[in-house]
Amino acid sequence: MLGKQLKYLKSGQKKPPIPGGKSKGHARPPSPAFTHLMVSAPRGDKDTIMADIVSYVKFSLGRTQKDCAVFGIFQATATSIRNRMLDRWNKTQKKYEETRAKTVCYLSLEFLMGRALTNSLYSIGLTGPYGAALKELSFSLEEIQAEESDMALGNGGLGRLAACFIDSLATLSLPAVGYGLRYNFGMFEQTIMEGFQVEKPENWLRRGNPWEIERFKLTYPIRFYGHTSHKTDPTTGRPVFDWEGGEVVNAVAYDTLIPGSCTANVNHLRLWSARASSELSLDAHASGDYLAAVKSKALSENITYVLYPGDQSEEGKRLRLKQEYFFVSASLQDILSKAWSQGIEAKDLPKHFAIQLNDTHPAMAIPELMRLLIDGADIETIGYRGLEWTEAFEIVRKMCFYTNHTVLPEALEEWPVYMFKMMLPRHLQIIYEINHRFLEEVEKKFPGDVDRIRRMSLISEGDQQRIRMANLAIVGSNKVNGVARIHTDILKASLFRDFEEFYGTEKIVNFTNGVTPRRWIAQANPALSEFIYRHLEQLGVVCSQEEWPVQLHHLAKLAELSQSRAALEQLLEVKYVAKTRLAEFIKETCDVDVSPDMLFDTQVKRIHEYKRQLLNILHVIVRFLSIKRIVVEATAEYSKKMDVESARQAAIKELKDANVVPRMCLFAGKAAIGYDRAKRIIKLITSVGELVNHDRDVSDFLKIVFIPNYNVSSAELIFPGSDISEQISTAGMEAAGTGNMKASMNGGLLVATRDGASIEIGDHVGEDNVFFFGASKTEIIEVRKGYQSGTLTEELDPRLIDALDAIDSGMFGCQEYFKPITDTIRSGKDWFCVAHDFAAYLDIQDEVDALYIDRIEWARKMLMNVSKSYHFSSDRTIKEYAEMWDLVPVKLAP
Ligand SMILES: *Cc1c(COP(=O)(O)O)cnc(C)c1O
Repeated sequence: MLGKQLKYLKSGQKKPPIPGGKSKGHARPPSPAFTHLMVSAPRGDKDTIMADIVSYVKFSLGRTQKDCAVFGIFQATATSIRNRMLDRWNKTQKKYEETRAKTVCYLSLEFLMGRALTNSLYSIGLTGPYGAALKELSFSLEEIQAEESDMALGNGGLGRLAACFIDSLATLSLPAVGYGLRYNFGMFEQTIMEGFQVEKPENWLRRGNPWEIERFKLTYPIRFYGHTSHKTDPTTGRPVFDWEGGEVVNAVAYDTLIPGSCTANVNHLRLWSARASSELSLDAHASGDYLAAVKSKALSENITYVLYPGDQSEEGKRLRLKQEYFFVSASLQDILSKAWSQGIEAKDLPKHFAIQLNDTHPAMAIPELMRLLIDGADIETIGYRGLEWTEAFEIVRKMCFYTNHTVLPEALEEWPVYMFKMMLPRHLQIIYEINHRFLEEVEKKFPGDVDRIRRMSLISEGDQQRIRMANLAIVGSNKVNGVARIHTDILKASLFRDFEEFYGTEKIVNFTNGVTPRRWIAQANPALSEFIYRHLEQLGVVCSQEEWPVQLHHLAKLAELSQSRAALEQLLEVKYVAKTRLAEFIKETCDVDVSPDMLFDTQVKRIHEYKRQLLNILHVIVRFLSIKRIVVEATAEYSKKMDVESARQAAIKELKDANVVPRMCLFAGKAAIGYDRAKRIIKLITSVGELVNHDRDVSDFLKIVFIPNYNVSSAELIFPGSDISEQISTAGMEAAGTGNMKASMNGGLLVATRDGASIEIGDHVGEDNVFFFGASKTEIIEVRKGYQSGTLTEELDPRLIDALDAIDSGMFGCQEYFKPITDTIRSGKDWFCVAHDFAAYLDIQDEVDALYIDRIEWARKMLMNVSKSYHFSSDRTIKEYAEMWDLVPVKLAP
């Protein structure tokens, strides 16, 4: 029934129309006045900006000065900034079209963007005038920015990587579109109640989103369920497939502008939102069931309702599959309709578009693109169809590229075949066909190697047949990339070894991740930015205040300051400023007083066993017990001569005189909703904090805070204020990490295992400037052999036993709740090797303390991190990708 509402073309047409050739319908003659007004850009001076803001308040919000809330001023400001970017965006898109430049389409189900206001102003270079305009209207930029909610359409590193990448793509003037989903509810908001994580829906669109532009005209139909049939084409003799019936949901585009830095180019992020294909289901309405009709509309719009909470959660599997297909189909239809309108022939598609798959979530792009090229789309604006299989597959394989983000085999995405059969029957056929042809090739190369064929198949056999999305993504892509050297090595040697042997060494490549220095240095750390700029100038580097973050390699020159005591002292001052700001934030969010004189030790990232927040908190417990013991003993000693309170003060003073470094241990991060152990670890951290922060013997020397609701905006405060950053994953388990890069760029020293990109950070900033510790990837494999065979030979470190005993004694309360955690370590079923690395971890923390006292030596290590981490700019990463995509900059004249 619904299928018939869409015109299903079945012509053998293969030539796209000539662009601008025949214009359809009622074209109106252009108006010179319209054209003139259209090209005049809004001015960027203070007075015009003020007028724009007030005009918006008056005419769009219908408010006056008296009844306009600060949020209204934010809306007005954001809208006026957006309008200034729109002008550049129009010109950029026109230029891309005129030059027929190749475009990369970055497909990601997550974009962890954070706030846009500061970033946009920074990019278009109008921070000064806007600040002045707001000031004259008696507001401050900081106050306005605080009104913006984070755009948190992602879980963690993978989504933030996508956000850093689209910033770099725009900055490098590369033609690019980010494609994703416009979830009504992004990452949940985490609150801490009585020390436990409590999740709240994050309704980021509640008060509207001034940045986005709704594009109703860009609407594509997406089909689910239904059935397939085929006939034979009488002229070609080839089968012609039809997928009909089922349910059709529309995808509507919402664009967010992505301005580049030091370029006039503005790209966009296009997010899809689900809209019922007919306002009300006519069947149900005709039968008089109005409520059922409304319900069916609501159900189909559910697709883009909520971000799937990643990290092993099992909830809403089917909805997630729907999201993946919805997203991929809308994005590909958008790409193909653009290509068709530009007159690009099917065989030339790879010359004009590259499609990057951020993990396997968009891997369905491979069978979907095959379907669109062979069967054709359901709408007239896409004329590609009727391609022969091998021709189509060659196009797909030239266009698609796949990024892998995990080395954990259990984290590779798989879907039950029965689910596909029901929801995406045509795609299942296509996947079977891809698999059939692929396995024939494997058989040819490795005759009779049945095990190999079974491992490489796109379908896993077993109780339940499943589709291996990673295998699909590899077979259908031009290249596969890992995200750090160690990660890519692991892919080549184990996870994807069969594919490496089949395709040769060129297919799996490495592009080590990066982060954007605009957001993570220039905006997040103004004091450091000033330091960098001033010193580069003194060192004779010709680079403006805007330029150095896009020419980050210049920072290498700063290493020359390593013998300048004055410069090192200034760097300590810079850190102190950021720590003061962070201390204020801690006071606001956690109501804990911390002094910026303490050593700020932070671990901020998703809470996960492999990231080992447990190792960190166990060390904190040991530290607590040891300080407590010393103060109590000394107090007992002194109180022979004085009253107890004076004795305690004397004991504390003695400890201070002995140069014990006071430390503030900060944690932040969300646990996946269904991840019970991670939630227990959060409770352990908050419980230890509750006791320690109120212990008058210890609290001068140790504070523990858990900042709720970790997101991009809090990360922007935390990284600049970190003296050390904990990057302590079990070696071989973190693909790359990007928190390590943010810390290092901001002069935070890493306490790190040899894992992910931390290894490469060590190569660049110097081994001596990172506190490396613990078992290497190969050693971990050995350690685990022992654990698995149940022959635990290692004895637990006595200090670890003390910490476990303290937890089990109920010192921090909730001992029953923490029992599974302590039991795991005691019993040796410690997959993440916390016990194995424990002694090494305590030793390295002693080294941290010892070095912290030598302020100048510490500052020297900070300087080397700031100076030599330029390699981890996402600009460098994107340049490497661009070479693979064969993409060249198309820069708009300034
Ligand atoms: C950088 C970042 C991450 C990734 O951190 P890792 O340490 O690499 O796990 C996650 N969330 C946010 C908000 C970030 O800014």
